[in-house]
Amino acid sequence: MRRIPESVIDEVLSRADIADVVGSYVSLKPKGSNLWGLCPFHDEKTPSFSVNPAKGIYWCFGACQKGGNAIKFIMEIEGLNYPQAIRFLADKYGVRVPEEAVSEEEEKLKEKKKRVSAILSEAAKFYYLSYQDTEIGKPAREYAAKRGLDKATLDHFGIGYSPKTWDSLYNLIKSKGYTDEEMLDSGIFKRSETNNKVHDMFRGRLMFPIFDAMGNIIAFGGRALGDGHPKYINSPDSLVYKKQNHFYALNFAKKEKSNQLIVVEGYMDAIAMHRAGFRNTVASLGTAFTEAQLRLCSRYANEVIFFFDADNAGQNAAIRAIEMMTGYLRKLSGVDIRIKIAKVPDGKDPDGYIKENGVESFRKIVEHAQYVDEYLLERAYNDNYSDEKGLDKGRYQEDVLRYASWINDEIMRSSMAGVAAGYLGANPEAVFKRINAVRDANIKNQSESSARTIVRTRRDDLSARNSQMPDEIMINVGAEPDKAISEPEEVNDSASEEELNLLAYAIALGDSLMDETIVGRTDLLRPADFAGDTMKTLVKELIGILDRSGTVSYARMADFFSQVTINGTEAENVMLAYYDKAENEKNIEVKRDLYLNYLFKIRISVCEKEEKRILNLYQSATAEERVILQKNLSAISDYKNKINIALGRL
Ligand SMILES: [Zn+2]
Repeated sequence: MRRIPESVIDEVLSRADIADVVGSYVSLKPKGSNLWGLCPFHDEKTPSFSVNPAKGIYWCFGACQKGGNAIKFIMEIEGLNYPQAIRFLADKYGVRVPEEAVSEEEEKLKEKKKRVSAILSEAAKFYYLSYQDTEIGKPAREYAAKRGLDKATLDHFGIGYSPKTWDSLYNLIKSKGYTDEEMLDSGIFKRSETNNKVHDMFRGRLMFPIFDAMGNIIAFGGRALGDGHPKYINSPDSLVYKKQNHFYALNFAKKEKSNQLIVVEGYMDAIAMHRAGFRNTVASLGTAFTEAQLRLCSRYANEVIFFFDADNAGQNAAIRAIEMMTGYLRKLSGVDIRIKIAKVPDGKDPDGYIKENGVESFRKIVEHAQYVDEYLLERAYNDNYSDEKGLDKGRYQEDVLRYASWINDEIMRSSMAGVAAGYLGANPEAVFKRINAVRDANIKNQSESSARTIVRTRRDDLSARNSQMPDEIMINVGAEPDKAISEPEEVNDSASEEELNLLAYAIALGDSLMDETIVGRTDLLRPADFAGDTMKTLVKELIGILDRSGTVSYARMADFFSQVTINGTEAENVMLAYYDKAENEKNIEVKRDLYLNYLFKIRISVCEKEEKRILNLYQSATAEERVILQKNLSAISDYKNKINIALGRL
């Protein structure tokens, strides 16, 4: 992945005043040293959303507890990823983002994509104008009128018409200087097998531009007017479009900032839903719902609703979809999203249903959507119950065990066990155990067949700065005996009080950390001072930032805090309190001394642990090894003495 230069991020954060950035979305009023407004991320009536211009961060004291710097705010509110958010702000505040040196090949590909995107935009314009054309667009307008698509809808979704010719778009794009190859790369042209000529792919169809989440046109869907075959043609995957990574209408749906996304199958469904007021609807673009799409959903919502026909085929499809999605969720750790299933009666799709029964009736269907656990329980019951024979307990149990084993949430599984136990006349605890056993077996089967997870080793990858440290610091303190490389490890996110304080004071010291008259070279914190993986990573990032830009700020570190947990809680929630305290200390020397105090205490305790470890090794060491161990011990002891003396001076 290409990195945006550190200097650009710093420049963006210094120019993009947080009050200004947030202020263009939220109306803010000053109170004390903060600005306050209604939180844009959760519903509230009294302002609990604060902005602290001095720190460059925002924080919601209400239900959602969201917080971070200007970049994070833009990521959240615009639904962008990190580099996109930086570019967004850079654009707005006039910071130039230099393109980092890339290989010639990458450069070419980028240029190619740009040109392909331009072709798609030209095509959208062409389709739109063709639709408006008195003569050419007539059949399309007649069809649209029949389908009840009004002008506002057509304009909103950029709907157009592809004339019934083989070359009108081709000739237009050609005249703008694009090559046949570029046109083929765009996915909306084809090469004829008979005469080898490139020609328009969409002819005589109502055209739906497909946008990415940012609103760029990346593909088209074309619907036949009337009963033509095939009914729908969609752009194939292309240089700029991978259908499993996108949703139709997500660019519109995300603006609703609903915590819920409704997923339907086709763009006509999505458009019908938007028109009916369900503007948080997206369409899955004709693929089986993918893991990438579920992850995409989780960036915008914490609940997704899917519709299935109420008939048997539809309901079986629902079960398959649930199994698949719960499977994705198990793999996507950290993705927190709840799935709901809604049943549309009479074998209708949402579009057809709304047309026949009206919006209000459809709203009830949405409201009656069931969480997967409820849905599966009901399903297991209905499938195995008949009026004559009552409940077939054997088969009911079988279904419940299988269904509940898919559910990742333990509480949900246990509540399913409770319900099932009622029908089975069994002990809930026993049912719960059986469910978990089935689940463990599933997981075991899966993990045996899948490749090994990426392995993390605990070894510190000391940054360049640390390798310039005097030798005495390079003692291998804190090192652990090598673990078997193949053993996958959990990330250890633990941190002690002292470690949290140390990191907070380091950030509060900012550029003073780099001033050797304030903090000596050897007194700069380093990853090895910390025990947990997460803290090591954060410190590594901090040192990286210092190295590259000569200072560090809370706002800058907030980017990293937003990605990790500390002691099981979001790091941003943990760090803010520590930072507040550190930052409140205005006297730089006092601040420095507190920093050193924490640093020295930690280093002493690391030394003590290392001494213990060496003493343990000593027992079973050979004579030669003992000589080395003794050397190490005395080096550690010297080092510890030095720190103790320094600590005493504070
Ligand atoms: Zn909030």
